[in-house]
Amino acid sequence: MPELPEVETIKRQLEKKLRGRTIRNVLVRSRAMVKFGAGKIPNAKRGSAAQAKKFAQTLRGKKITGFGRSGKFLIIEISGGWRLVIHLRMTGQLIFIAGGNLKRPLLLSRAKRAQKELLPSKHTHVEIEFSGGGKLFYNDVRKFGHMRLANNRDFEKIMARAGHGMDALEINAAHFSNLLNLRPQKRIKDFLLDQTAIAGIGNIYADEALFAARISPLRKTGSLAPAESLILASAIKKILRTAINHGGSSLKNYVNARGAAGKFSARHKVYGKSGKPCRNCGKPLRAHRIGSRTATFCPNCQR
Ligand SMILES: [Zn+2]
Repeated sequence: MPELPEVETIKRQLEKKLRGRTIRNVLVRSRAMVKFGAGKIPNAKRGSAAQAKKFAQTLRGKKITGFGRSGKFLIIEISGGWRLVIHLRMTGQLIFIAGGNLKRPLLLSRAKRAQKELLPSKHTHVEIEFSGGGKLFYNDVRKFGHMRLANNRDFEKIMARAGHGMDALEINAAHFSNLLNLRPQKRIKDFLLDQTAIAGIGNIYADEALFAARISPLRKTGSLAPAESLILASAIKKILRTAINHGGSSLKNYVNARGAAGKFSARHKVYGKSGKPCRNCGKPLRAHRIGSRTATFCPNCQR
């Protein structure tokens, strides 16, 4: 979390606001959250002052030329052949606020006692200011995410290391069935989460797609009949597209690039609903641990 629909939502919103804009200034508040180039930095906790400086200096004066996404990575294309590769991990937020709205507080968390706050907040790690006004804020409560600035060669390295498989929005039935056959012993839920097979799906959309396809998350991929593989491939695409149309899902920290919550969470049928009645048959949904993840499903409807 955020998964493909959330990253895609942010990408589309930022593209509208920022394509063609020039970066006036960059303020790195937590240097551990930014990286320059493809390499690992020596002290991941404290970051590197030299890298943070290069990060900010390189961006200053450059223009935003385009946007892309690979799996859950957001990619901002920058003039001069640079790319900003952003992974929001658990709690990352990218919020653009136009110059005139910088004094307007936003509700950026679904936590019970959450209050509206002004940006930058104590969770803001990078601020990017644009010529003509407006700022992009990178917030991250848990600090698992990062922003990485890369030239063409480093970008290739970063992408090769991620090893992303087919984008989940681009799934076609034949390729999907091939991928299943290549990993016959994997549990289907694990398979869906494996970014090197299909990129972009996380816990939420894996659970929702399996429910929609009436397939148990505990099944081995090799046990799926051709018809089931077809149904699952189309369920994944449908769930992801519907989620994008609703601006993604907000659990605790996800907000879109305008600082607003996604509306797809209200449409979740199984994710996070263990013990609640199945929408289809009324029997209680069950949570089952698979590796380090939990799958929630209906043992009656999903076979
Ligand atoms: Zn059911």
